Amino acid sequence: MSLKECPGCAIDVDKNEDVCPICGYDFPEQSKSFKYAVWLLIVLMLLWLLF
Ligand SMILES: [Zn+2]
Repeated sequence: MSLKECPGCAIDVDKNEDVCPICGYDFPEQSKSFKYAVWLLIVLMLLWLLF
C-alpha cells in the first residue's frame, strides 16, 4: 500500500483515496478527470443517437 501526503492536514493517506478521510480534501486525481471525460463522451453519444 502506497501513501500520499494530504496538503490539507499533512496526514499520510492511501494513494487510492480520492478524498482525504481526515479533512475531506479533494485530491486532484488524473483518473477523476478521465472519468469526467468518459461520462462526457457517453452523454455526447446518447445525444448523437437521439437526434
Ligand atoms: Zn487531509
